Amino acid sequence: MRIFDPHIHMTSRTTDDYERMAAAGVRALVEPAFWLGQPRTNVGSFTDYFDSLVGWEPFRAGQFGIRHHATIALNPKEANDPRCREVLGVLPRYLEKDGVVAVGEIGYDSMTPQEDEAFAAQLQLAVEHELPALVHTPHRDKARGTERTLAVVRESGIDPGRVAVDHLNEVTVAAVAGSGCWMGFSIYPDTKMTAERMVHILREFGLERMLVNSAADWGRSDPLLTRRTGEAMLAAGFSDDDVDRVLWRNPVEFYGQSKRLDLADVETDATFEGNSILRGGS
Ligand SMILES: [Zn+2]
Repeated sequence: MRIFDPHIHMTSRTTDDYERMAAAGVRALVEPAFWLGQPRTNVGSFTDYFDSLVGWEPFRAGQFGIRHHATIALNPKEANDPRCREVLGVLPRYLEKDGVVAVGEIGYDSMTPQEDEAFAAQLQLAVEHELPALVHTPHRDKARGTERTLAVVRESGIDPGRVAVDHLNEVTVAAVAGSGCWMGFSIYPDTKMTAERMVHILREFGLERMLVNSAADWGRSDPLLTRRTGEAMLAAGFSDDDVDRVLWRNPVEFYGQSKRLDLADVETDATFEGNSILRGGS
């Protein structure tokens, strides 16, 4: 099983997690820029973080044969802090970098006017830089937040096929399916979405434009839940090809729209055996 995790915050994970992920079949991932727990007080603190997303983390992942890409943005939560707004001005520089495959995470946290503004401005950056956009939906008041998200995406004029709306559930999936946007699901140990519920959604809505991630972050989370979802799909009668489509080809198609995905050497099974040897020797 080859796995591409399209949304995982490796900054908050240990090196042991990289090792376990590689052993479970994760060969590529996308790490979206997000909040760091401790509020940031100036732009420099963002640029150091962005630099680590395009420098240090790809190096850390590479030691386990995992290809690391990033998305860059001012996250919804910190869009509300006036000390962080200046970040919008440094984004264009990062959006030109190799390994940056989308603008994200953008969207809503508490649905404030400040978030409206940052969200719309960053969708425009995605259009200008010809990048896809990764959109976070709020955890509170999710249905309304998702509707409002889709309205802003429509108004922006961005091609919905270049937008992934993430953290969906049974309540919000239908609206996004009808919008033409990609549908992202974050599988968590005890909140948001489980592997079994995910399988039901795939049965009902099909495999097209579906993205499954572990989103592993500061909260209780598990970077191997992509693998668990693949196993749950097989147990429910989906084929190996179906699993490969959801866990590999779909994220490759979505982020491939950036024309910056670098998957040379990790796509083929021959390389994967190579990785196993490498892991065995470490
Ligand atoms: Zn996230």
